[in-house]
Amino acid sequence: MESTLKRTWTEIDLDALIRNYEKLRNKTGAGVKFLGVVKADAYGHGAIMVAKALEEAGTDYLAVSSIDEAMELRLNGIKMPVLILGHTPREQVERLIEYDITQAVTCKAKAVEYSEEAQRLGKTLRIHIKVDTGMSRLGYLCDGDYFNTGIDGISEAVNMPGLDAEGIFTHFAVSDEPGEECQKYTEHQFSLFKSVIENVEQKTGKRFKLRHCANTGAVARYPETYLDMVRPGLLLYGYGEFASELGLEPVMTLKTNISTIKIYPAGTAISYGGIYKTTHTTRVGVLPYGYADGFFRALSNKCTLMTSMGPAKQIGKICMDMCMIDISDMPEVVVGSEIEIFGKNNPIEDLASIAGTIPYELTCAVSKRVPRDYIKNGEIICKELMLRM
Ligand SMILES: *Cc1c(COP(=O)(O)O)cnc(C)c1O
Repeated sequence: MESTLKRTWTEIDLDALIRNYEKLRNKTGAGVKFLGVVKADAYGHGAIMVAKALEEAGTDYLAVSSIDEAMELRLNGIKMPVLILGHTPREQVERLIEYDITQAVTCKAKAVEYSEEAQRLGKTLRIHIKVDTGMSRLGYLCDGDYFNTGIDGISEAVNMPGLDAEGIFTHFAVSDEPGEECQKYTEHQFSLFKSVIENVEQKTGKRFKLRHCANTGAVARYPETYLDMVRPGLLLYGYGEFASELGLEPVMTLKTNISTIKIYPAGTAISYGGIYKTTHTTRVGVLPYGYADGFFRALSNKCTLMTSMGPAKQIGKICMDMCMIDISDMPEVVVGSEIEIFGKNNPIEDLASIAGTIPYELTCAVSKRVPRDYIKNGEIICKELMLRM
């Protein structure tokens, strides 16, 4: 479905995405495969279009968090390898195999379930073993006292009938954080990971084809962790300090426009709760952009949005569908003028920092009411409306 309305929309620059991908590929080198993380609807950028662009550009693998996300890709024509990072219930193993989807195996109980199901079907499920080296989330626990039981459990899974352990991976907890302590922690996670692989390969006599661990922080800062494949998300989309250091570009621009302009005398309370009172005659722009579009209400009265004449202060409580900005002394800003919420002229990192969060959360928060204009070769190729029609 095409969007016709110019209310609030995102521009997804697929050219920038591919330039980012190519720069990262240059950095990681020819011998290293590349997995693009497209979970959470490609961090809010649109998983189908992002996956298509990455597939066309020669990315080796994609990762998502659930079977629903994987099926979305398959049912929309994505043929390349897809890894599910999260859990899939055993009833879905048949679909995993039918649709040629790779599943992460995170503990013995899952390995047993998947192996039983695959055998029952007389088929093989391709898996990547997940190792918990210090993220303390999913994966075979292998640190400290758990080393031997970890090795045993993983080796058992590698040898289970019905499972093809193509890969093994771990996830870094603080590879993107500064300081010596975080560096030590990351180095410990990495050396533990290597040692787990070595021990399992020795014990089973099998070799993992794809050993991977480098997320955004590690791709930027720890080249020794690239192994067979890197696995970044955020860097591809061009946000954060590492992206700017590497010369990557933001892929998403979020825009709105002015629907109404009002002029209020000094002392006028603006919006719910009257938390903002004008101190002078104020020209107020009403924007069709509110918390139901993904604007955090906690940002009320705290941030600026970008006009053609510079930043305008957001004033008063952010409403569900609207918010107000102060455009006094901005005569060029008129009804219909475009306002950039974040993007190439208004860094998302600034808004994220005021909101006390990270860019990931802001791009993921853009709601389905906001259509996406995809740009390829400098032209809008599709205006995607996410509402069900
Ligand atoms: C989300 C995720 C990534 C990507 O993380 P970034 O910080 O965006 O690079 C990589 N691996 C796993 C297991 C993840 O869950």
